[in-house]
Amino acid sequence: MGKAERKRWSEDFSEWYNELIEVAGIQDKRYPVKGMNIWLPYGLKIMRNIEKFIHAEMERTGHEEVLFPALIPETEFQKEAEHIKGFEGEVYWITHAGLDPLDVRLILRPTSETAMYSMFSLWIRSHADLPFKVYQIVNVYRYETKHTRPLIRVREISRFFEAHTAHDSYEDAERQIKEDLEIFDRLAKFLALPYIVSKRPEWDKFPGAYYSVGAEVMMPDGRTLQIGTMHNYRQNFAKAYNIQYETETGDHEYVHQTTFGMSERLLAAVIAVHGDDRGMVLPPTIAPIQVVIVPIPKKDSEADVFAYARELAEELRTAGIRVHVDERDIRPGRKYYDWELKGVPLRIEVGPRDVEGKKAVLARRDTLEKITVERDNIVGEVRKTLDAIHENLYQRAKEFLEGHIKRVDTIEEAKAVFEDRRGIVEIPWCGEEECGLKMEEELDAKMLGIPYPEEDAKAPEGKKCPVCGREARFIARFARTY
Ligand SMILES: [Zn+2]
Repeated sequence: MGKAERKRWSEDFSEWYNELIEVAGIQDKRYPVKGMNIWLPYGLKIMRNIEKFIHAEMERTGHEEVLFPALIPETEFQKEAEHIKGFEGEVYWITHAGLDPLDVRLILRPTSETAMYSMFSLWIRSHADLPFKVYQIVNVYRYETKHTRPLIRVREISRFFEAHTAHDSYEDAERQIKEDLEIFDRLAKFLALPYIVSKRPEWDKFPGAYYSVGAEVMMPDGRTLQIGTMHNYRQNFAKAYNIQYETETGDHEYVHQTTFGMSERLLAAVIAVHGDDRGMVLPPTIAPIQVVIVPIPKKDSEADVFAYARELAEELRTAGIRVHVDERDIRPGRKYYDWELKGVPLRIEVGPRDVEGKKAVLARRDTLEKITVERDNIVGEVRKTLDAIHENLYQRAKEFLEGHIKRVDTIEEAKAVFEDRRGIVEIPWCGEEECGLKMEEELDAKMLGIPYPEEDAKAPEGKKCPVCGREARFIARFARTY
């Protein structure tokens, strides 16, 4: 596909995204099941780098990795009423084994609560087993009826992260939610992604949860994307699945439970938030290739740019930097184009004059700036520049997010903000479901919820709910969402 034909991030983000997923080698969408895509090697490498960080965080915080089967018997799935109600329209059923109809039908997991919790009731015996913390990264299946989009809305979520915990008290479960938020914050910084956290309204919490908290990023078109959720279940699932423990005094109590979920939407957010008209811009932390070296031979020069490039690469590699030398027999401009599309954070150009002067030209992917550095300082200069790129990506995205959150008092003002689908609107709200739903309808937007932690959610003194005119208790956030 030629340069001129590609869609522009700045003008038509939605089309840019769909096209980029394929041309940058993230996924192939041509698999003959709608909403189920194929991970390509480059995309998978980036996703694995994100997952490495998640595994390390799980280890650090005392979560153990498990792997549950993908099939759940209908009888287990149906134990928690709210949960079935929330998912029954989305599950894929297995009704036959070979030619025989099954006595107990099976579902393909849409999430793993109902797979895990009958086992939790066997595993958790006493207070000494608590807190109990496990996680897995697996594929889950949801029959999405809305328009599907790679990595964002799919029928097979192939990198679904879910952490499940059990505790001896509500307070300890609350501590877990705080820990999840701290893990999420570290991950978001690792991905250079600024975000907001909201407590979901009652009508939009996870089916079976006591409350749900969600983290959103701001996409280039002003719509938000949920990339992480945490739920406190209280004892709701514990009662349905009989997960009890023996207390120190010999009584039996139900555990308190939480979950924490994420997926390949993390990668979608990275692609969308940091991208530009030339393609992806990967944070150095997750780029499979952090530095690409492009030798630029000149016909009338004796200097061996290839040997020089290989030497530089060896030195950087020894220092732990992921580096690649592009020795393909094509024009340098074509190489720049390819690596810019794939989001390699830093390019080093090596020409005869650099070889002779013992120098190298560093070209930043984020700002497109070029700087000439001394060959002797190459490791230090590259490290410093990669750090600067990461910091710049974060700051640039943070300014964009903050510039797209607007606080208003009336429905009319909110409508004006949404006129061109730009950003998040914060409106005073009395807290009544009826008024919240009315605002969703009027604005043709979703209530993300109230700011979390809740100390930040109180409406300023004297503010009124624009629907009913009563005193506002909260600030509610609305956005058009992916
Ligand atoms: Zn109201």
